[in-house]
Amino acid sequence: MKFYRLLSMLLSATVLFSCSEQEVISHVEPATVVSPEAEIEAILHEHIAILASDQFEGRAPATPGEEKTITYLRQQFEALGIAPGNGDSYFQAVAVTELTTVSDAVLQIQGSDYDASFSYGDQMMVGTQQQIPYVTVQGSDVVFVGYGIVAPERNWNDYANIDVTDKTVIILVNDPGYATQDPELFNGNAMTYYGRWTYKYEEAARQGAAAALVVHETGPAGYPWEVVSSSWSGPQIGLQAADLNADKNEIEGWLTLDSAEALFDGAGLDYQELKAAAAQPGFTAVPLADFKASVSIENSVRNSESQNVIAIIPGTERPQETIIYTGHWDHLGVNAELEGDNIYNGAVDNATGTAALLALAHLHSQQPPPERSIVFLAVTAEESGLLGSRWYAEHPIYPLATTVANINIDAMNVNGIMRDVVVVGYDSNELQNYLEAAAAKQDRYLRAEPNPERGYYYRSDHFNFAKVGVPALYAESGEDSVEFGMEWGAERAQDYTDNRYHAPSDEYDPDWDLSGAAADILMFFDVVNTLSEESTFPNWFEGNEFKAIRDASRAGLQ
Ligand SMILES: [Zn+2]
Repeated sequence: MKFYRLLSMLLSATVLFSCSEQEVISHVEPATVVSPEAEIEAILHEHIAILASDQFEGRAPATPGEEKTITYLRQQFEALGIAPGNGDSYFQAVAVTELTTVSDAVLQIQGSDYDASFSYGDQMMVGTQQQIPYVTVQGSDVVFVGYGIVAPERNWNDYANIDVTDKTVIILVNDPGYATQDPELFNGNAMTYYGRWTYKYEEAARQGAAAALVVHETGPAGYPWEVVSSSWSGPQIGLQAADLNADKNEIEGWLTLDSAEALFDGAGLDYQELKAAAAQPGFTAVPLADFKASVSIENSVRNSESQNVIAIIPGTERPQETIIYTGHWDHLGVNAELEGDNIYNGAVDNATGTAALLALAHLHSQQPPPERSIVFLAVTAEESGLLGSRWYAEHPIYPLATTVANINIDAMNVNGIMRDVVVVGYDSNELQNYLEAAAAKQDRYLRAEPNPERGYYYRSDHFNFAKVGVPALYAESGEDSVEFGMEWGAERAQDYTDNRYHAPSDEYDPDWDLSGAAADILMFFDVVNTLSEESTFPNWFEGNEFKAIRDASRAGLQ
């Protein structure tokens, strides 16, 4: 044993020596030594200052700010010698439709001895994904379908034994795991995709329902009613659909908890009791007496176009296998109605992530070509509902079955090096193992997001890759500051949320300490380098809701 160890030590010493000898030979000119971290920090500062400048007008899709942003990104990829990612183009057109609902809708519920109406804004919110000027639901039976979940891998079906075609379904937010805090049920406290409201509407549409109404509760939703009422009013941007989204529910919306309780009460049912029953296996849907729902909405419809930006370093051995970095280039633009500074510069969100894509492109361009292809995808309209990434996932340029992984970057750390790396969607898939190894090399540790019940995993661009089965990783610096400790780091994070998040004050500051962002970038670079030289396909962990989709997609190749 000892002999072999000594031998292997000698061998590695020889290897090290010959490497450094080569280095000395290749670096003949006496250049000032810049560490990779410092080089990346300088690159980040340069790009963020430009992308977040007032000149870029807050980078809203389909505005002059978009033109400047996507031109800048194309020029940067060209300058690095990185090829266009969409044939001979660096762009992928994303067709979007803007719907603005006239806000006077009323939800009418009538039964043989019940008649109530619920008003838009304070008692309910309704909208539609159907891209037409008028939708209506008239005299539709009302059914409570519990959590509205069909999860074959968990042997759970809230729509078993009931046909809800053309009916109005009332659905609970989040999932039975959160409701019971039972770690054996779904993911316990952590939200699964079945808990996210977007899923509830998708499933209700698959079941043929005319209207789907989710009951809002602040705890399980993760935010107060005001977030629902403000984000559902005003223009809503969606992807243009060839069938104008005729397969979606006519009406999607929310009821306040008060409205739901009153409605159940009117039907002679106890909302809290039924809610508890719905969290138990074997729950069956319950009609609300002989109630019929009616509601109509009017929309103005406007079509426009925006662009994803895409570049590729083709693989030498397995070019059809791709690893895709994503970061959204868009932010909220300018609000003309605002006094004073009305430009949403989005410096942290997400000029940092966009700059990170360029820094990663720089790093990858400096080394020999990888065996697998590496793709840089700066997506549009994340702030309008993850639209650019969804468009890509629905119109993939590189086949999804051979897309090895997605690494997403959204809002980087500007407060120096953190010991912890927060994995949003902890224990989802095997990419986490690669990340853990890369983090360990930096003496850093992984930890789960602090509030997994809020479902952040479903709220940035990587999620659209997850939905089509591609293992996706969304990780970021935590709050355990190497220099100032956990409390300080948490304060800095809170300060951003309270004072700059989605506000005109999210501006670039040349005093930012980007050493932590640089460390994160080197960590992702390490993960992708490892993946790019392998032939393995990391998968979702057993029990994850996206595993079956991936398995089917991979099986299609064999
Ligand atoms: Zn963002």
